[in-house]
Amino acid sequence: MSEVLDLEKVSVDQNPVIQKMLQNEHEQIVFCQDKVSGLKAIIAIHNTTLGPALGGTRMWMYDNEVEALNDVLRLSRGMSYKASISGLNLGGGKAVIIGDSYTQKTEALFRRFGKFVDSLNGKYITAEDVGVSPREMEFVNMETKHVTGLPESLGGSGDPSPVTAYGVYMGMKAAAKEQWGSDSLSGKRVLVQGVGHVGQTLVDYLSKENASIMLCDINEGRVNEIAAKYGAEVIADKDLFETDMDIYAPCALGATLNDNSIGKLKAQIVAGAANNQLADENTHGKMLQEKGIIYAPDFLINAGGLINVYREVAGISREKAMELTENIYNTTLDIFSKANEQGITTHKAALQIAEERIASVANIKTRL
Ligand code: NAD
Repeated sequence: MSEVLDLEKVSVDQNPVIQKMLQNEHEQIVFCQDKVSGLKAIIAIHNTTLGPALGGTRMWMYDNEVEALNDVLRLSRGMSYKASISGLNLGGGKAVIIGDSYTQKTEALFRRFGKFVDSLNGKYITAEDVGVSPREMEFVNMETKHVTGLPESLGGSGDPSPVTAYGVYMGMKAAAKEQWGSDSLSGKRVLVQGVGHVGQTLVDYLSKENASIMLCDINEGRVNEIAAKYGAEVIADKDLFETDMDIYAPCALGATLNDNSIGKLKAQIVAGAANNQLADENTHGKMLQEKGIIYAPDFLINAGGLINVYREVAGISREKAMELTENIYNTTLDIFSKANEQGITTHKAALQIAEERIASVANIKTRL
């Protein structure tokens, strides 16, 4: 930790933790610490109007606690909107563990974390996220039943990535319908950035539809292997935004749509799996709109993974989860209509729909 926040030196109204909580309207923030196992974690519960707050646990070497807090608040808010717009009865939550996922993962640390999750009595349900694997979730599960995304062998819903990829594919087809009047991707030049768990399955769908596929990934061995399998072209990282394409599918990192990239981007559609693709929700959503590029909101079209783990909470079948994921196509079209009617960005239209559902359910609950 390069910087430790000394909260005793700031007054209550300047306390950054309290400020953040007020700004983001979070319901609850839990700081977890255990000296014996070395656990330092934050659980953020954004909104539980629709149901228990579900969201993964990320393990990351944050520079300081404020950076970790910012991340968990932003991510948990995103989960509320993702669940809401997907029609799930789930709230939004997320957890971060501050630490190096390569060297500091132990059974004790994750079991201690599990006890903190358990102390929330199901108000927060955890899952895997960056830096955390099914193995650690098994440790968490030893201390609490409020865990999802476990392997199928343990009664869980297994790898969510194929379902995420299907939802992204549906969102991409809806964007094609909006931009070109047909949802066929045949012959369209699609650049997939990141051919990991989600990217690879997406490439499979695109290939079956005879799209012209381009791939970009920092893992050379993997990208060459997948390119050879699907007859795709490999694009170097540095050439990504100089390349002619019809559709840009970010499936690696967030914030790739920013001041630098949008000016150069030669696509007519952006539709991918990465979370938080817009570096700034307002500015960059608007920049895409002004260039006539249709943006399929990330938190909507990548919701397939959440829909898949929802099976474990709501007891629905895999078929039902696929049906809900397929419906991302219709919801994406609804968002485009709303954005056109109101002259707002597609991201803003999606946020409004998500917020409206939460507000309407809150209204029913207060009247029951
Ligand atoms: P992954 O780790 O399996 O794959 C990511 C791929 O991106 C890797 O092949 C990696 O080498 C590549 N990559 C990393 N940095 C890169 C860069 N600068 N340029 C090009 N390639 C780069 O991850 P995943 O599970 O496939 O998820 C992909 C994205 O989708 C992530 O942003 C994730 O948060 C998001 N997402 C995933 C799911 C899911 O179900 N897995 C659900 C929702 C959102």
